[in-house]
Amino acid sequence: MQIDMPEMNGFSRRRVLRAASLLSAGAALPFYNEFAMAQDATQRLQGSRAPMPPDAVRIGSNENPLGPCVEACEAIAKIAKYGGRYSPHNEGADFIKIVSEVEGVKPDFISPYAGSSDPLHRSVLAFASPTKGLVMADPGYESGAGTAKFAGIKVTRVPLMKGTYAHDVKAMIAADPNAGIYYICNPNNPTGSITKREDIEWLLANKNKDSIVLLDEAYIHFSEEMPGSDLVAKEKDVVVLRTFSKAFGMAGIRCGMAMGRPDLLAKLRPYGAGMLPITGLVAGTASYKSKTLVAERRAINARVRNDVFEFLDKKSIKYIPSVSNKFMMEAGRPGAELTRALAQEKVFIGRTWPVWPTMVRVSIGTQDDMNKFKTALSKVLS
Ligand code: PLP
Repeated sequence: MQIDMPEMNGFSRRRVLRAASLLSAGAALPFYNEFAMAQDATQRLQGSRAPMPPDAVRIGSNENPLGPCVEACEAIAKIAKYGGRYSPHNEGADFIKIVSEVEGVKPDFISPYAGSSDPLHRSVLAFASPTKGLVMADPGYESGAGTAKFAGIKVTRVPLMKGTYAHDVKAMIAADPNAGIYYICNPNNPTGSITKREDIEWLLANKNKDSIVLLDEAYIHFSEEMPGSDLVAKEKDVVVLRTFSKAFGMAGIRCGMAMGRPDLLAKLRPYGAGMLPITGLVAGTASYKSKTLVAERRAINARVRNDVFEFLDKKSIKYIPSVSNKFMMEAGRPGAELTRALAQEKVFIGRTWPVWPTMVRVSIGTQDDMNKFKTALSKVLS
């Protein structure tokens, strides 16, 4: 039987076949997401993937402890009994309609996915290749770099700017003028810092014409920053990624999307089946219909974050100011050592990045979580 191969985008037949044979052998491809990377870091510390104790403080994966909003939970409960069908009442169309209204982007510029890891990996395979690299920040969110490494794509890491911790867009182009992807995570993971709109526009205006800007807005709703949907509406060479795993508290429910010109979104299609659970779709639709949810959650996150920052200021512990639900903090020792010591207190913080080995990432949990974090940190540092 003749099987149609997706367009190979500069990948050798040997690489495509290698990926296919790994998949058919059931091997896990190195397409990591935040949770998998957090689990790996914990495993390296503890020597096992033992489940966390039930009273653990989980502030390592940038999750939202508030979970889905009430309307989303009700929508999930209502749809469950129709789950025998792939798409009982056109849930995908309803989702696209509300996103289109809220974001001001035409429906065919929106592709729903089960989170944004999926379109992130697809984008790397679709727009970068062994001859067109991926340029990203250092420290930056490593997930796409894992895909690139597997596919033999060159990854160029460019330090964040001193002082602002914004992406250094001029240095990013200079580092690889022929790249296929310039990846901007805004606010950045792990720093929670912002790259200004004018820098993103400069990047779009000055990059090579065959590349895209991959604008990962997983954390945009925690900030006051202008989102990139208008750049999509203006048909720029941009793919915007969104997930419902963060502000909307749906990491385990799974919903997300890519927004971009239809010709760009079409390039993502061949790399997977992409079916979403209807539970994720209806919960995403219900969340987007709320007129108050984003502002409420942004305020709660900011209040808890500011309280932690006050505590760190009092203790003279350095951190990078963040507008997101996580921040980088100086451990004053190898980051893994502090992480391990806090884990002994059942407080599980995030990982370190090789470029900043004495800093650790801490996610914002509930006020109660962060009170326990403060107590444990005081104990460990004393
Ligand atoms: N992009 C960034 C920057 C992230 O931090 C994450 C998850 O933490 C994602 C994308 C993907 O999240 P998910 O697959 O849960 O939608």
